[in-house]
Amino acid sequence: MYLPNFEYFQPDSIEETCQLLSQFGSKAKLIAGGTDVIIKMKKELLAPEILVSIEKIDQLKKIEYVHGKGIVIGSGATHNDLVYSELLHEKYLSISEAARQMANNQVRNLGTVGGNIVSAVPSADLPPILVALGATVKITGVKGERAMDLEDVFIGPGKTVLSQDEIITEVIIPDQKMTGSNYIKFGLRASGALAVVGVAAAVQIENNAVKEARIVLGAVSPTPVRAKKAEEFLKDKKISDELLAEAGVIASGECVPITDIRASAEYRKDMVRVFTRRALRKAIDEGHA
Ligand SMILES: Cc1cc2nc3c(=O)[nH]c(=O)nc-3n(C[C@H](O)[C@H](O)[C@H](O)COP(=O)(O)OP(=O)(O)OC[C@H]3O[C@@H](n4cnc5c(N)ncnc54)[C@H](O)[C@@H]3O)c2cc1C
Repeated sequence: MYLPNFEYFQPDSIEETCQLLSQFGSKAKLIAGGTDVIIKMKKELLAPEILVSIEKIDQLKKIEYVHGKGIVIGSGATHNDLVYSELLHEKYLSISEAARQMANNQVRNLGTVGGNIVSAVPSADLPPILVALGATVKITGVKGERAMDLEDVFIGPGKTVLSQDEIITEVIIPDQKMTGSNYIKFGLRASGALAVVGVAAAVQIENNAVKEARIVLGAVSPTPVRAKKAEEFLKDKKISDELLAEAGVIASGECVPITDIRASAEYRKDMVRVFTRRALRKAIDEGHA
């Protein structure tokens, strides 16, 4: 598996990156960690004439708290940056734990948050927990910047709303009232396997009742999907095992999984039922660290 020839640019600013992507159009491909792009090139699924790397842009690697805004994660932060971030351990351990469940150490050292989002693979692990926490993204292109909810970025498998010259620069987890969150994933091996089903839950608990819940299902629809009927069902109800089990049943009716080499659609639906209950229970019991 050899790589085809390509020209390589390594700009050191976001502006120059967008400029190059605009200038070369469909001949160019943005590359971050390369864990998807390089594999696709080796498999001859992708043959860009030009690769534009964002590896040298330090400002894309930050993970910091910005007062009045929330936690700002640069799109170039790697999965292991999330795993070992003290800030995330303190505020949203669930994001670190989701990253820890991904791939293997080598891939986690290279793969980035931005790449995981823009690959738009239905089984990607970070989008469910980020969407559950209400993440927004900052997108920069030659015409300027725009912000949007992360859940609106995905259009279908491998497709996002980004245009050729645009890059995601930041993922922002806004300050919020959610008291706990959690992501659980089922893969066919203990490590290095893509999710057959992934469920993220974020909850706001007050006086042993659910004030608000966000449930996001991964690998069971063309894009990460909110289980909005289950979220609505939980609102203002006292917590009980029966309540969480019923929310799982409702959520399993809100996904449209496919049957593939990893699992049947029926199996995935049933896993959503079980994992929604478990993710809610963990989000409630463990809270935010
Ligand atoms: C062995 C192996 C195991 C894996 N296991 C998992 C797993 O368990 N869970 C999981 O979710 N994924 C897994 N992956 C997939 C992959 O590692 C992730 O999707 C990773 O996050 C991709 O990031 P990257 O930086 O390497 O992306 P790249 O390969 O560099 O880019 C991927 C795509 O995103 C675009 N892109 C990258 N950054 C940006 C940006 N900032 N703005 C706009 N576009 C951008 C690129 O142009 C390209 O289209 C695995 C991959 C491998 C090889």
